[in-house]
Amino acid sequence: MQLETLLANISQHSNLVDAYGATHLPIYNTATFDQKRQFPNNKNYDYSRTDNPTRNALEDIFTLAENGAGCVCTNTGVSALALLFDTVLKSGDTILVERDCYGGTYRLLSILLEKYDVRTCYADFTELSEVENALEQNDVKLILCESPTNPSLKIVDLKSVADLSQKYNTLFAVDNSMATFASQKPLDLGADFSLFSATKFISGHGSVVAGAIVAKTEHWSERLNYFSNAHGRAQSPFDVFLVSLGLPTLVYRMKTQEQSAIQLSEFLNTLSDVIDVKFPGLPSHPQYELAKSQMKIIPSVLTITLKSAEKAEQLIQNTKLFGEKVSFGTSDSRLEIPSKMSHATYSEEDLKKIGLTHATVRISVGLENIDDLIADIQQALKVETNKYVKL
Ligand SMILES: *Cc1c(COP(=O)(O)O)cnc(C)c1O
Repeated sequence: MQLETLLANISQHSNLVDAYGATHLPIYNTATFDQKRQFPNNKNYDYSRTDNPTRNALEDIFTLAENGAGCVCTNTGVSALALLFDTVLKSGDTILVERDCYGGTYRLLSILLEKYDVRTCYADFTELSEVENALEQNDVKLILCESPTNPSLKIVDLKSVADLSQKYNTLFAVDNSMATFASQKPLDLGADFSLFSATKFISGHGSVVAGAIVAKTEHWSERLNYFSNAHGRAQSPFDVFLVSLGLPTLVYRMKTQEQSAIQLSEFLNTLSDVIDVKFPGLPSHPQYELAKSQMKIIPSVLTITLKSAEKAEQLIQNTKLFGEKVSFGTSDSRLEIPSKMSHATYSEEDLKKIGLTHATVRISVGLENIDDLIADIQQALKVETNKYVKL
């Protein structure tokens, strides 16, 4: 079954059996389930921290969408990362992580080191020899990366990293928040876990924070469930419902946003105030071929560098349609300066390593009409309107 079909009617394709034949996912907002009376649909529900029919239905869909063996829906994306760490790591272990990672991941890894003596080594995953060197020199338990990376928008060759993880007998997890399963399926490429923040493209409307992690094997799926229950990381039924509202349109939203992002990045490339445009959907991106071979849809996030920090500030302050907000993948367009917001947890030194300055702006392209978005940037940077010739 194609993904659009699966997502169009999730209550039909999950294992949920609703007594009334509800056509959309019902919200079972209950803490407990009656254990004395017999209910034909209640196989083993007793307490919603452990299992809940609404949440299980979404977990069924995510399992199918990612081609996994099982899933846990967590209360945030960070919680999915924390659940992965709870489940696979113990004190003294080492994780190998792509240097350009989400700010919250970086913070969590610092805490792991401080409190639990779990060490992180960072590498540039676009250089496979760097990954292999790190694997040779350290006893690595888990490899973790995003692709595209955020905010540098590098593409990691997931299949090759999965091959290396096999060779060195480590686990491999991909943070699939940006591409989503609508675009790429890390488990099919050899990863052991695919996790994501559903706050972004998946829910799509900025109405909820949410996450999920899908395991390739029954074994890890069972372990994830065990630790999710033990640490109380599971998502509430109402938040599951909010996520579910975004699913039928996921593929169509991402395709429309991709087209707008292509147009916007071509436009930005014509501006003298903009010295660099990073977007994997442009043939000028150094890993364009890999991006196209690994992702069906290029997510609509671009990172640009302006001439100066003042110009970046001018863009941020003067645009009317782009909110200054963290997060991406929502229906509304956004921009932010990662070094001040989403990646403010990075040390000065690590910011330098991934090439971030206060002149770098991350743009998330939403569902507005692209002509309005271009006009908005033109007025914000005071570009002469006849300069841009539509390609
Ligand atoms: C946003 C994000 C997260 C964290 O998700 P939350 O839902 O905000 O907790 C993790 N990884 C990536 C790549 C993200 O963009």
